Amino acid sequence: MFFRKDPRKKALVERALQQVEKMLWDMQDEDKDLSKLKLRKYQKTHFTSCSCPKCLEAKRKNNPHIRGILEDGFKVYVGEGTGDED
Ligand SMILES: [Zn+2]
Repeated sequence: MFFRKDPRKKALVERALQQVEKMLWDMQDEDKDLSKLKLRKYQKTHFTSCSCPKCLEAKRKNNPHIRGILEDGFKVYVGEGTGDED
């Protein structure tokens, strides 16, 4: 499911996976219980006041999901939390 034919997307996912792998090793070094591991995709979008072309388009279509992206990646955490509390 991860690897599509689009080489740009593939490079993006590969970079993300490298980040995830590094995080996992760091967590292992910290003796975290990786059996409770959770992985979540996250995206940080521009502020609602932003007026770049993507955000304007999002406003016009009333669809916040197509707003401009600041950060795009994966979040790894362990335990019962949602991963939002840091
Ligand atoms: Zn924007």
